[in-house]
Amino acid sequence: MGRKFFVGGNWKCNGTADEVKKIVSTLNEAEVPSEDVVEVVVSPPFVFLPLVKSLLRSDFGVAAQNCWVRKGGAFTGEISSEMLVNLGIPWVILGHSERRLLLGESNEFVADKVAYALSQGLKVIACVGETLEQREAGKTMDVVAAQTKAIADKISDWTNVVLAYEPVWAIGTGKVATPVQAQEVHSFLREWFHTNVSPDVAASVRIIYGGSVTAANCKELAAQPDVDGFLVGGASLKPEFVDIIKSAT
Ligand code: PEP
Repeated sequence: MGRKFFVGGNWKCNGTADEVKKIVSTLNEAEVPSEDVVEVVVSPPFVFLPLVKSLLRSDFGVAAQNCWVRKGGAFTGEISSEMLVNLGIPWVILGHSERRLLLGESNEFVADKVAYALSQGLKVIACVGETLEQREAGKTMDVVAAQTKAIADKISDWTNVVLAYEPVWAIGTGKVATPVQAQEVHSFLREWFHTNVSPDVAASVRIIYGGSVTAANCKELAAQPDVDGFLVGGASLKPEFVDIIKSAT
């Protein structure tokens, strides 16, 4: 079943308005494979979402980096799914390890967010991944299965979900997973979907890799049969993001 290559750029908590405009103009000028071949979504900080949405080429999408777990209201400092929908922001990243680890977001909390965001019509990039300690203890598959199961327990339709496998030890460290390591986890997750959700979801859900992806290492990773694209942090702020998009072909 054809799974369209997906490249997300997570800008994290970076940038000024001028820097953001510069990144957008680089992207707008880039020659990349058509949107039939690759889906590109960039994720600026909340405050720059309207600016990026207004300036960015129409074949690229925009994602928020988080949203509140339920309907908005008296939750100071939070941004609701409804607000993102209202602004025409189609995507949201949920469960990023920086939020799981630094802000204590549990598997259940992330799963509740995914379910609520989907219910409001958002598309979700849901992140899973193990720490170095968990990998060294041989628990990688248990950890990613538990994180994915928490979501599967709360949603029945995976059409609007992209699952990002992001080993925590590879994020922002320059220590990328080898193509073999990435493929091993991606194929485990696809098999997990086959057994625990459905063969159709296993065949169609996009599982993307994140963690120190660069122009130099993306081709080999993209060649793995179960790697359906990337979630890119640091390199998404640089012109090399365009080369990563091009690894779709
Ligand atoms: C991320 O934060 O999602 C990420 C993958 O970061 P980096 O590419 O910088 O490792």
